[in-house]
Amino acid sequence: MFAQIAIEQVPNMLFTYKIPEGMEVRVGQRVSVPWQRIYRLGYVIALTTESPYRPKPSQHLLQDDLFQAEDSAKIKAIHAIDDELPYFSEPLIKLLRWLADYYSVGFTLALRSALPAPVRAGRVGEKAVFMVAPVEPLPTQLPPLSKRQAELYKEIVRIDGGRMVQVCEELGTTPATLRKLAQLGYITCEQVVVARSPLQGRHVLPSKPLQLTEGQAQALATILQATRPVLLFGVTGSGKTEVYMQAIAKTLEEGRDAIMLVPEISLTPQTVSRFASRFGKTVAVLHSALSDGERHDEWHRIRRGEARVVVGPRSAVFAPVRNLGLLIVDEEHDSGYKQDESPRYSARDVAVVRATMEHAKCILGSATPSLESWRNATELGKYTLVRMSERAGGGMLPVVTVLNMRDAAPAGGPTPIFSPPLIDAMRSRIERGEQIILFLNRRGYAPTYQCDACKESVICSKCSAKMTYHVKDDTLRCHLCGTWQRPPMRCPSCGMPVFNRLGFGTQRVETALHAILPQARIIRMDADSTSRRHSHDELLSAFRAKEADILLGTQMIAKGLDFPNVTLVGILAADRSLDITYDFRAAERTFQLIAQVSGRAGRGSLPGEVVVQTFQPEHPAIRLAALCDYEQFAQEELELRQDSGLPPYKKLACVTFAGKDSDKVAAAATAATRRFNACRGLEVTPAMPAPLEKKEEWWRWQILLHGESAKGIAAACDHVLPKETRITDDLRILVDIDAVFLA
Ligand code: ADP
Ligand code: ZN
Repeated sequence: MFAQIAIEQVPNMLFTYKIPEGMEVRVGQRVSVPWQRIYRLGYVIALTTESPYRPKPSQHLLQDDLFQAEDSAKIKAIHAIDDELPYFSEPLIKLLRWLADYYSVGFTLALRSALPAPVRAGRVGEKAVFMVAPVEPLPTQLPPLSKRQAELYKEIVRIDGGRMVQVCEELGTTPATLRKLAQLGYITCEQVVVARSPLQGRHVLPSKPLQLTEGQAQALATILQATRPVLLFGVTGSGKTEVYMQAIAKTLEEGRDAIMLVPEISLTPQTVSRFASRFGKTVAVLHSALSDGERHDEWHRIRRGEARVVVGPRSAVFAPVRNLGLLIVDEEHDSGYKQDESPRYSARDVAVVRATMEHAKCILGSATPSLESWRNATELGKYTLVRMSERAGGGMLPVVTVLNMRDAAPAGGPTPIFSPPLIDAMRSRIERGEQIILFLNRRGYAPTYQCDACKESVICSKCSAKMTYHVKDDTLRCHLCGTWQRPPMRCPSCGMPVFNRLGFGTQRVETALHAILPQARIIRMDADSTSRRHSHDELLSAFRAKEADILLGTQMIAKGLDFPNVTLVGILAADRSLDITYDFRAAERTFQLIAQVSGRAGRGSLPGEVVVQTFQPEHPAIRLAALCDYEQFAQEELELRQDSGLPPYKKLACVTFAGKDSDKVAAAATAATRRFNACRGLEVTPAMPAPLEKKEEWWRWQILLHGESAKGIAAACDHVLPKETRITDDLRILVDIDAVFLA
């Protein structure tokens, strides 16, 4: 018998090893194998009875991966099985094979993305803690206790012990005192190994399923009967989460497991506790903000079948549940589901494929579905469309006012940050004790630091991007690479000493708010204010506890938040993303953003109001978002896409060439264009400098490929740019099938 093995460190090849007599190897197991002169860990991908080596080299290829060119006599044997319990189920391996083919990457790279880094790294030391427990009933002949010790013992009985650190904290005592009690025989104090869990130490109250509204009940019934993926198109606040939870409960009843994907940013403690309180210990959370130990332990809890409901961001689509019965993608339109490194998979699309392969149900939920999913659910009939058009709490969708900022500017003067109606609206909320969310998708103080004489802006030395002025530490910072510098004394272009700080980011808005509404308590939430590990959660909890009137933030506040006391949402510079001319999805993103941010208003019993400030009030994305008319927007935008031959009507891939020598990059991209042109059924946009021409000192060129099928495009990429040639010392080629970001 032979085993085909993927070795993590070798991305573009699979290897064949002999299975020694008497060793029972299973697909998906992790094994150790001799590789060059050391042992490495590898994963068993397939078993065969025959040696795969035959005389002709072309037949050595399987799934486009190369085998080591050795004849079968020299095939080495597996050294040992690392773990009896497989890391991957057979369906998961099949899914990864699909992924490698579809996204044009080596199999091993696909496999890597299915394993969290701490799991790949091997064993992360287990965590041992001291647990304290009262001895009950007490044996008769124990030494007497002092009065304080006796009181402490009583308290320990009352709280029934627990982790030593927690007992110390709760009862205001020390480990030494507890150990003394243990010596005397009143309590036990033992070291035990515990799974590190993100829910540990959090008090979670159990919750019961809610009585469904009529809309929810109908949606759930359709979902439970559906034989195809379901697009759950539910307005903001329609109660999609409750539908998901009841569908999950049903899945568990049937003895199957469930995965729910959420955008990374909305994986807040609120979401997690909602699930934990409904499903208890059977929930596992996979989240990049967890410690390595927590991620390691959660993943293995799933693999062992101890956790059967998985909540996590995109990589959780590969969670090793044993019997997948339901896969949910919440906020399915979210661009965060697209992986930003190779393989550039879309977790939403992978979810649909995995659910289909494993005969599981699939729900894609959104108030603003991606046009891809919308077309699948309408024109193509591939998905079942389920609507929920009413808010679950019975409230109305917020009233949206669009303010044209051209009217707000005094003649000849600069445009103010706030229009007078927005200031009035904010003032009235603060007086009434209601809360406000202000959204601006730009951090820092001023996004442009411009010379007053020659009007040149200061550009990052490593990227082709403007530097943003940060007032707190008086620096210019590049938001792409993190480089910072002191503001120059003289203009690098013309030598003049006067600069203007143009435009506004969240820091400047905060300063302006303090001036206009001195009484307002403000929480600012952006990448600068949330860099510490739990700061994101802390700021949201403070806002929930009404410790602030205004939550001001970037896209990290746009999604999923449910604050019943928020009655006003202000959207500043709503058209910012519309100015991106190179990205055909700009209008779709703008619509989604406005609709999602607006959806944060009026979620409780109080009605909500939204004020949108823009220079382009007539743009369909803004006009229709203000009317909450997704279907009209989708129809108009789909017509435009069809006329221009863009996704979802055609498949699109973006091939990026990056390197430090701009001439070499240009030459490589141009040469590839010629070869792509020779491929049939492909429309090739010739190589050009990428919109973001330079990033972190790497020059970037792009080719766009349009075609009827992703398969055809991937095949052309494999042909023109063989996988093992894509990364060299001075050139990196990145193939992005179904590209979402075209910068
Ligand atoms: P969505 O995700 O669709 O925007 P949520 O799931 O966050 O909406 O639900 C919005 C609000 O409605 C939440 O506060 C939730 O607790 C409440 N809710 C959901 N379903 C019900 C129900 N059946 N009865 C009462 N309240 C509900
Ligand atoms: Zn930079």
